[in-house]
Amino acid sequence: MINGIKPLDRSLRWGMVGGGGTSQIGYIHRSSAQRDGTFTLVAGAFDIDAQRGKDFGRSLGVDEQRCYPDYQTFFAEEAKRPDGIEAVSVATPNNTHFAICRAALEAGLHVVCEKPLCFNTEEAQILEDLCARQRKIIGVTYGYAGHQLIHQAREMIAEGLLGDIRIINMSFSHGFHAEAVELDNPSTKWRVDPRFVGPGYVLGDLATHPLFIAETMAPELNIKRLMCSRQSFVKSRAPLEDNAYVLMEYDNGAVGSMWCSAVNCGSMHGQKVRVIGSKASIEWWDEQPNQLRYEIQGEPVRILERGMSYLHPRALEEDRIGGGHPEGLFEAWSNLYRRFAIAMDATDRGDAELLENFWYPDVHAGLMGVRWVENCVRSADSGASWVEFS
Ligand code: NAD
Repeated sequence: MINGIKPLDRSLRWGMVGGGGTSQIGYIHRSSAQRDGTFTLVAGAFDIDAQRGKDFGRSLGVDEQRCYPDYQTFFAEEAKRPDGIEAVSVATPNNTHFAICRAALEAGLHVVCEKPLCFNTEEAQILEDLCARQRKIIGVTYGYAGHQLIHQAREMIAEGLLGDIRIINMSFSHGFHAEAVELDNPSTKWRVDPRFVGPGYVLGDLATHPLFIAETMAPELNIKRLMCSRQSFVKSRAPLEDNAYVLMEYDNGAVGSMWCSAVNCGSMHGQKVRVIGSKASIEWWDEQPNQLRYEIQGEPVRILERGMSYLHPRALEEDRIGGGHPEGLFEAWSNLYRRFAIAMDATDRGDAELLENFWYPDVHAGLMGVRWVENCVRSADSGASWVEFS
């Protein structure tokens, strides 16, 4: 149970690139990073518009001298200070992630980066290698992967309660972009332009979330090959997709499917992961994140509730309030940021023992998401053919 006791005896000096006052995702970064006292916001280049970024930083209580016009000035100036930042979060559109992450690592900073980590596997590999060389980490914000019930599912699968894993069905399919909302929504505009979003829209923006949740639940499964069909129902989005189906085959003989969509009219989110084994199935849905369905063949459905003592200890250690009260996205993110801080601190201390079995979405998880999108696009653009996962 998390009760406010700081997990570290220090708070990392932390800054942000992006996540400005008009952004969609900046606030959850700040509230999650600062929730357990592991990060203190001291600087930033919060906005593409330098003055707006400065005004916003000031309104957050950041020293105006440390609200910078761009990330290059930010990293260079902070490096000169004895109290300069130790870690930075990158919450900008996708096309900037690679350059900002690389510059941050080269400046000796730990990084938290938004998904998708970058545009292609080559870039992701450069970042992974750079992390190793600089002895710094990149944490990737696959937010709901920090939810306790995802880890309950992981433990149940590891204990064999489902039997052999046969099928994984994943979806993240909402209806918010069923029309061309990008015409007057700046946060959506860059998402449907390949120069800013990368080779896919919903594949990277949405599908990488349930994909990583499934990888967290069943880490021993590896994708062997896949087939993707993608569509642009709002025609102006072509060649980018606003809907896609992906079929996957895993190396243990299991099969999987992904449906990602921004045109699923009426659906709020529809992020679901269902893992089906030879004895039982589990299902988690982000619209009811405190309940995990456990369905044993031939028995009544069991609904496992977050915060209850019958859960695995790993699924209880990050509870912030007892069962019955809802926890959701903000708490899952806080769990991730808490883990990022612990991993950063352990990396700085060279604590290999702690890091060996310490779970968090790391740079490799970021790389796998990028690789998956790349393979999906390769398949879709060659007539929805099966491609070896490479
Ligand atoms: P947004 O367009 O709403 O906001 C982007 C912010 O970045 C703005 O404040 C903008 O001024 C700033 N910015 C842009 N370029 C910059 C630069 N070069 N330097 C400094 N600031 C810059 O975008 P968003 O929806 O907040 O998405 C940002 C990132 O977060 C994307 O990579 C997106 O995929 C990701 N995201 C992740 C989740 C999640 O659940 N993990 C949810 C939403 C968005």
